[in-house]
Amino acid sequence: MVCTHEAVPQNGALLDLLSNPPARLKNEHRLLEGRFMEIFDIHHHLGSLNGGSLRDEAGWQDRDYENRVRIMDANGIATAAILAATGYIQAEGIKDTMRSNDSVATYRRRDPKRFPVACGIVEPLHGTRSLEELERMKHELQLDGVVWHSRFQGLAVDHPLMRPLLKKVEELGLVPLIHTNAESNLEAVWRLERLAREFPDLTFLALDALTTNTNSQLALDIAKRTTNILFDTAHIRGGGFIRQFVEQAGSHRLVFGSLFYSYPASYERCATLEEIKAAGLSEADLANVLSLNAKKLFKLE
Ligand SMILES: [Zn+2]
Repeated sequence: MVCTHEAVPQNGALLDLLSNPPARLKNEHRLLEGRFMEIFDIHHHLGSLNGGSLRDEAGWQDRDYENRVRIMDANGIATAAILAATGYIQAEGIKDTMRSNDSVATYRRRDPKRFPVACGIVEPLHGTRSLEELERMKHELQLDGVVWHSRFQGLAVDHPLMRPLLKKVEELGLVPLIHTNAESNLEAVWRLERLAREFPDLTFLALDALTTNTNSQLALDIAKRTTNILFDTAHIRGGGFIRQFVEQAGSHRLVFGSLFYSYPASYERCATLEEIKAAGLSEADLANVLSLNAKKLFKLE
């Protein structure tokens, strides 16, 4: 049995081409590397939807990390933002929220190359105590952003209690990540549009906005009439809508987010990523969506 590559004639011209490829081939190689080796996933929650970032059993973060990295590798995802999850027990109020944020910071410290971004959480119903926690998240824990999932937090996205929190977020230079899932009126995406107009110097990341046909169309309209909301790709319907969004709102407004919980794993094969890759976007648009927009938002480069 002879390996097929041994049958390839090893003549001088071929060796020369391999060792010194023309610029066009070098560029294609570089683009392919960028396309498939530097994919940044903006939407990875720590822990599970039920139980959040607080779990009791020993070694859960080790198991979480092992499973998460295995699935990232299998899908060619190099880096991810690790986000606090909601649904945690709050019998001790803000102390539980603080433990959740500590947990996110600890997880990021175990592998900051894989997880260059980590985002905590504050509860609007904790009132001004949340302002102190935002300070601690920024200065003590070095977190990069704040996640809200309003339907699990009991108040609408645009509730008055959100305003002082967003003022503090802006002052501290944190990034606000706000779920706007079509399944919840509390998370209606038009509520986020109100906040975006009130805080024109903040750039918001809308998570889950591209859920369902109706919500996706509304989100696209909002994208066209605002400048400071980016939209993640969680729940996105397919290549046709991805192209439409990029053509009408621009690739600088769309950010790859797979929506991953590791307990249990949300997926083995990331269909969202495959749809984006197959959507027929230009190399420049693809690079924006898969990597560059997230890096710019979090000032990673
Ligand atoms: Zn989420």
